[in-house]
Amino acid sequence: MPINPRYSKLFEPLAIGPVTAPNRFYQVPHCTGMGYSLPETLAAMRSVKAEGGWGVVCTEYASIHPSSDDTPFPSCTWWDDGDVSTMSVVADAIHEHGSLAGTQLWHGGLYAANKGTRELPFAPTGGPIAYLNPLHAIEMSKSDIKDLRRWQVEAAKRAKTAGFDIIYVYAGHAYLPFQFITPRFNHRQDEYGGPLENRVRLFREMIEETKEAVGDRCAVAVRFAVHEFQIEGGISSDGEGREVIEMLADLPDLWDVNISDYRSDSGSSRFFAEGSQEQYTEFVKSVTNKPVVGVGRYTSPDAMVSAIERGVLDLIGAARPSIADPFLPKKIANGQEENIRECIGCNICRATFKACTPIRCTQNPTMGEEFRRGWHPERVPQKSSDHTVLIVGAGPAGLECATTLGARGYTVTLAEATNEPGGHIATAAKLPGLATWARVRDYRLSRILQMPDVTLYKNSPMTADDVLDFDSDAIFIATGSRWRNDGVGRFNRSPIHGCYGPGVLRPEDVLSNSEIQGPVVIFDDEHYYMAGVLAELLIGQGHSVTLCTTAPEPCVWTQWTDEHHLVVPHLYNLGVNIIVSHNLISFDGSSAELKFLYSSDTISLNCNTLIPITARKPNDSIYLDILNRLEGSDETAAPTITRIGDCLAPGLTADAVYSGHKAARELGVDSTMRPLRRERIVLSLPPSD
Ligand code: ADP
Ligand code: SF4
Repeated sequence: MPINPRYSKLFEPLAIGPVTAPNRFYQVPHCTGMGYSLPETLAAMRSVKAEGGWGVVCTEYASIHPSSDDTPFPSCTWWDDGDVSTMSVVADAIHEHGSLAGTQLWHGGLYAANKGTRELPFAPTGGPIAYLNPLHAIEMSKSDIKDLRRWQVEAAKRAKTAGFDIIYVYAGHAYLPFQFITPRFNHRQDEYGGPLENRVRLFREMIEETKEAVGDRCAVAVRFAVHEFQIEGGISSDGEGREVIEMLADLPDLWDVNISDYRSDSGSSRFFAEGSQEQYTEFVKSVTNKPVVGVGRYTSPDAMVSAIERGVLDLIGAARPSIADPFLPKKIANGQEENIRECIGCNICRATFKACTPIRCTQNPTMGEEFRRGWHPERVPQKSSDHTVLIVGAGPAGLECATTLGARGYTVTLAEATNEPGGHIATAAKLPGLATWARVRDYRLSRILQMPDVTLYKNSPMTADDVLDFDSDAIFIATGSRWRNDGVGRFNRSPIHGCYGPGVLRPEDVLSNSEIQGPVVIFDDEHYYMAGVLAELLIGQGHSVTLCTTAPEPCVWTQWTDEHHLVVPHLYNLGVNIIVSHNLISFDGSSAELKFLYSSDTISLNCNTLIPITARKPNDSIYLDILNRLEGSDETAAPTITRIGDCLAPGLTADAVYSGHKAARELGVDSTMRPLRRERIVLSLPPSD
């Protein structure tokens, strides 16, 4: 199919210094949790992106020296020539599909704690490092600055030898060259401090010297944060952010511009809309003749074309959209825009990186599994039998299971009790700020509609008898979970006194209940998004709301998804009464008794509605019923029966999708025949006597 002329601009090649990008899809550097510790995993993942049509595919931050060590987070490294062979595997994997390979050379300065190498962190001006850690960074001498410039050049040469096409000088996300630029971190009196010209000196030198070293064959890109979002005294796009670009205008081969810090650069959809960085980066093209790439969680080809036509960007940068759908460009090229698996902006990818694991994605269950399990985001093995399949429950797990089994060629019936498929994600998407999450449901429903052998029946609550009468060969129970209303959870392993009966509502009941009586107390012992969005909803309905949590901060798990710093002020601004480090000890229908965790002090709150957000119980009664009925029956004639998603173990939406996907891939496959591939050091034993 020819490319839709509406989108043809996205497929025009573009020269970037001495190299040419085959199209305008640019996978900007993004963290993976793979880096030096899992190079084959990394190469396989980047290769899939290139195969999916991203014209440029970059590595994550790649440290130029042991004094920039992010342990326990695995960055890439360019510390010595040993890195060349490892990193060339990544470059080769990208080149195999005709894409350009980029690498982002990194020195973290006071944002590198060097926990692994125990080198002392560097900074333009000495002082505590940026992370919660009593360690101080030392002020860089002139000779340290010279060393830094040398490390950048040596790393660039290694990257060139490894085959990379685009090599970065990185002054984004408040890393070392940026620390020189911003007066927040630079209080020097020498030629590297004071007026902006001096503060930019190091950045300029690094660009010039990198070009000199590798510019004959490689493009030298810079990543620069033109604006620091909500940072007191930060660089701003209508101030020094703009002036820096004016000063260096045509020096680099490419401007990769964004906002800082990470939490706003990869801002969640709850707080940042698609394209929301444009307001900060749109000026850049007017002050440089060099190509400009920028991000903004673009998933709509129309928004991408518009950004190019309006002269905001030349290349559409993407991290998360390329994680959620590595084949986004190819789908646009093939006229399959409706099959784009759009990023929902939930930032579970950030949360998993921050937990030092390979990144996981809510929308794309194959992310990070390309090498280990051999999973491909668009290809699945064809069915191994003509078995028929019944899936009970069309939440994220059931929908993903049906979509994947349909792609394998199975005949699938998907029965959903309600009129509205989507399960918990359909509910979540109605809560404040979470509408984008509906894409988890919508992508899968749209795929299912295209599959003649997959049939979804709504309004079809199934019993164990119904399921067995259906006579399928394989049954998947994806009936989800429900919130407990007795207070049992992480902190309280036994029911809380009075935490049942009238006045106690489950989160899922709140949306359907128009009779809520305030004041409301939300007791949060789960710590993710639910307590905060319910508080926002109920405040919006005019109730007085107290959010009480056992954690030291409200919604503390949202720190992992880079939202906490926005969630907390948001709740305070809305007028939510927040009580931290307190446990709920009783509820009597009109008051809730709270106890401070660190003393015997208690508080009594007027409360007519209590919403405990604690633990969830699997809806597994049908599953257990079926097992009972099948007990003693002829095993060879009985259907296979499998629980998936929250019905097996309540968790994140990403876990439910993954569970549905894995179960679908494994139907009819002996998974023990394909053990997980591992990257590890294997020591050979000395020969025994
Ligand atoms: P998961 O995250 O594991 O997909 P959800 O709770 O999001 O779980 O979705 C479970 C879905 O299963 C819901 O849409 C719910 O209406 C549906 N469901 C629950 N019980 C039955 C049943 N007995 N028959 C059909 N569908 C059911
Ligand atoms: Fe997007 Fe969420 Fe996937 Fe990250 S985890 S890429 S934010 S859908």
